[in-house]
Amino acid sequence: MVARLQGKNCIITGAAGGIGLETAIQFAKEGANVLMSDVNANTLRMALEQLKSRAAKGVRIETNVCDVSKEDQVKAMVDHVESWGGVDVIFNNAGIMHPKDDGVLNTPENIWDLTQDINVKGVYYGCKHAIKSMLSNKKKSASVINTGSFVALMGAATPQIAYTTSKGAVLAMSRELAICYAKQGIRVNSLCPGPLNTPLLQEFLDTEEKALRRTIHLPSGRFGEAIEQAKAVVFLASDDSSYVNGQDFLVDGGLTKSYVTSL
Ligand code: NAD
Repeated sequence: MVARLQGKNCIITGAAGGIGLETAIQFAKEGANVLMSDVNANTLRMALEQLKSRAAKGVRIETNVCDVSKEDQVKAMVDHVESWGGVDVIFNNAGIMHPKDDGVLNTPENIWDLTQDINVKGVYYGCKHAIKSMLSNKKKSASVINTGSFVALMGAATPQIAYTTSKGAVLAMSRELAICYAKQGIRVNSLCPGPLNTPLLQEFLDTEEKALRRTIHLPSGRFGEAIEQAKAVVFLASDDSSYVNGQDFLVDGGLTKSYVTSL
């Protein structure tokens, strides 16, 4: 069987854990060269160890420490892959959900700013520099995947106003880029995960009551797993999805289509 990402040069931000790490593993199994990028150098080192034994033979796996909210660091990350022949795929996945992010009346302004800096500007910088690389290397089938969230499409009475707003911006940005660059062979989609079993969410759900408030709405009654997102990202990155563009690509176990779940 031909690997679906054979020879593609891929960047993943937030690659040290959760969805990013699972995606790096799947990409490397599918023959991609992967630049694993993250702000946390220690967890990134451990993630690289996990990946090495699982990659396809001959693929290039390297790491890069980068805070996506800093443009010079994002540019340096993309420049790193320029020396491999330019970027084919970028998965702008790094994101935060801050514990002090709450309702509109009590979320501190600095938390609002921090969230937009990482979740929105980080994606903007990633798109800007990766698309420049894709264009200058005349890539014919390039893919940008930006991580949004189901919260950009549904309201919740457990607010995280800065996070929700940031993910709405990711969806709008991705849609516009998709239309701008379609004729140059660059597709842009948003991955919209449902609630997952990763530290980002589970650290918030520290009581059974908090968890139940969410699982009651999930058609399957369970949170999603990071690997279930990663497999969707492989599809969006590969030419298997060559006519999928500009989508809010929901991988949410049916949550956004559900009214009342079965008992
Ligand atoms: P995670 O916390 O497990 O992983 C996020 C990674 O991003 C971490 O390795 C972290 O070090 C890195 N990171 C944080 N700030 C960064 C920065 N400034 N620059 C570079 N890297 C940075 O989270 P996850 O659950 O894998 O989430 C990944 C993405 O999926 C996020 O964008 C998140 O908003 C989104 N998402 C998650 C869920 C969920 O339930 N977990 C649901 C919907 C969307």
